[in-house]
Amino acid sequence: MSEFLKVQNLEASRGEKKQGYLRISEKPAGPHMIPITLVNGDGDGPTVVINGGEHGSEYNGPAATLTVMKELDPGELSGRVIIAPVVNTLAFEARWMHGNPIDYRDMTGCYVEEIPRGGSGVPKISYQVATTFYKEVLSQGDYRLNLHGGDLEEDLLTGTMYRRTEDEKRSDENLALCRAFGYDWIRESLPRPGAPARRRLEFPMTVGTEAGGMGRCMSDIVEGVVKGIYNVLKHLGMLDGEPEIPSRARVYHPYHLYAEHGGFFISNVMAGDMVEEGDVVGIIKDLWGNTLEEIAVPTDGVIHMVTSPAIWEGDVVYEIGKDIREIE
Ligand SMILES: [Zn+2]
Repeated sequence: MSEFLKVQNLEASRGEKKQGYLRISEKPAGPHMIPITLVNGDGDGPTVVINGGEHGSEYNGPAATLTVMKELDPGELSGRVIIAPVVNTLAFEARWMHGNPIDYRDMTGCYVEEIPRGGSGVPKISYQVATTFYKEVLSQGDYRLNLHGGDLEEDLLTGTMYRRTEDEKRSDENLALCRAFGYDWIRESLPRPGAPARRRLEFPMTVGTEAGGMGRCMSDIVEGVVKGIYNVLKHLGMLDGEPEIPSRARVYHPYHLYAEHGGFFISNVMAGDMVEEGDVVGIIKDLWGNTLEEIAVPTDGVIHMVTSPAIWEGDVVYEIGKDIREIE
């Protein structure tokens, strides 16, 4: 293992912590850079990338990294940690949901091998951010904590998430990593056999988190994310001690319910509520007060997400977790 942890010109030798910028690209008015922190531990171990802010208005995860980057002592760390609190700084600055105010794209879909070139009036900032972050940072990671939460309009169940692949052993390791974070709920997406690979890039084994939402940043939720980060570092043997987690967690498979009509969406339930097949969980009205649609759930489950009251035809209104199972 190299003695140095290096991202572009920022370099931390063994036992060092360094803070600086990842240079993304040049904007019309100057460089586009995002803050990063490198922690190069005294001991050997894996490399973990911790990032928040792919969606710039999801706050509790990024806030947690601000504590971890201060507290993490390279003298007590085996391995390396790279922290980027807010990847999508343009969205963060503009209080923007999902995309950003420059090219409107959701950067989670912009991790590609080559950054496409722009056209007249069509900048490619999301591709530049995602792909540069991938090449310079994520490609160095063995593991990734990708910290999300409900965006400005999303009421979301706090939990971790991962996607299973055809590789059962690696998928089980990924589940164990989610479990180690310590949340009660784990959102498990199933492999999509036969679906064309959307990305050929290889990503580190990733635990996604959803913590809080609707534009709020609350210290108790932030503390929960901090604890989860340390739990994962302990699970990986990078910090001394055992993860402090509840004795059981519940795993579910997500699916969406879509609106048949555009209108005003009023929900009877919130994230975390348990529902039974056939329950009417919400209604959509027009702006004359007429009910256009009653939304019933087709399965038992848990409410994972409730979206905006301003609904367009075809929008997601709910995400539901079904097939709930308990694991130790
Ligand atoms: Zn998000």
